Amino acid sequence: MIRLININKFYHSTSEKFHALKDINLTFGQRGMHFIVGKSGSGKSTLLNIIGGIDQYDSGDLIIDDVSTKDFSSKDFHTYRNSYVGFVFQEFNVLKGLNVYDNIAISLDLQHKNPKEYHKEVQAIIDRVGLTGLEKRMMNQISGGERQRVAIARALIKNPRIIIADEPTGNLDSNNSKIVMDLLKDLSRDHLILIVTHNKKLANKYADRVLEIKDGRVISDTGDIETGETPLSLKPITTPIKTSFNLALKAVMLFKYRFIFMILLFALSLTFAGVVVNLSLADTTGEYAVYQKTYGNEYVALQKKYYNNNNIHHKKKPVPN
Ligand code: ADP
Ligand code: MG
Repeated sequence: MIRLININKFYHSTSEKFHALKDINLTFGQRGMHFIVGKSGSGKSTLLNIIGGIDQYDSGDLIIDDVSTKDFSSKDFHTYRNSYVGFVFQEFNVLKGLNVYDNIAISLDLQHKNPKEYHKEVQAIIDRVGLTGLEKRMMNQISGGERQRVAIARALIKNPRIIIADEPTGNLDSNNSKIVMDLLKDLSRDHLILIVTHNKKLANKYADRVLEIKDGRVISDTGDIETGETPLSLKPITTPIKTSFNLALKAVMLFKYRFIFMILLFALSLTFAGVVVNLSLADTTGEYAVYQKTYGNEYVALQKKYYNNNNIHHKKKPVPN
């Protein structure tokens, strides 16, 4: 269960302090499709980001399963986000360099799971979001609606308690919007789904509850809060080195030519830097002194005009009379 108690949020721009959320008091249970609607700039995303632990509130309290987040460190929020919340954004948070399967499996990689063991789990999620048969397709080989389903699958694979979606259908046509909303509705039977939208029609069609925000305040709250209790357990998640390496390798393979060009450029700049360093550090005065010592004045004599002009370098000492 999530509770917001007197939450206030300010944004500090260069000249003024902007009061983005004003005394927000809300409770969310374990399930259901909860819509947050309101005009642009009303504070919808700010509210969602605070609930998802992406942004921090300035006063009040956010309580997650009876645990106050007042004293949460940034590491605690990181753990909360990773173990408890799945994010779906309008910009399709998918990785372009990976195919459908890898985009979903990567989350389990990040949880140190064994690829052989998680295969069934990944396939089940792919089937659940309706992407069966598209496993090997890259992100530019599927439609916008399918990409959004990959994003939902990525959020889902962590088995989060909450799924947070900020305008998840903002870039989709009505047919794809319906597919995505139907999927989220299906998931809302055992997940808490929080969706920001400015599409009231969509909200009224799918919502169990609609919250309306205006100027940072909740002005209406209709529907079912739906509560239930499961103890909060936070387990820290770190990126295994193997996953980081694989990701880097895939990025390199995706941009092969750019990578080769970068290496060449790097080598060229190293050579240039070497020349510059040599030039600036070379002790020319010292070199000149050594020459003078070894060859007498021959070094200067290399310039012919001096040589011919009175033969200054081999001038005999005047013989005293
Ligand atoms: P919504 O999602 O409803 O369009 P937001 O929550 O994004 O609204 O923003 C609410 C208000 O806070 C807006 O007036 C916006 O300009 C302001 N705001 C949002 N983010 C910032 C920020 N990082 N710095 C300053 N002001 C911000
Ligand atoms: Mg927004």
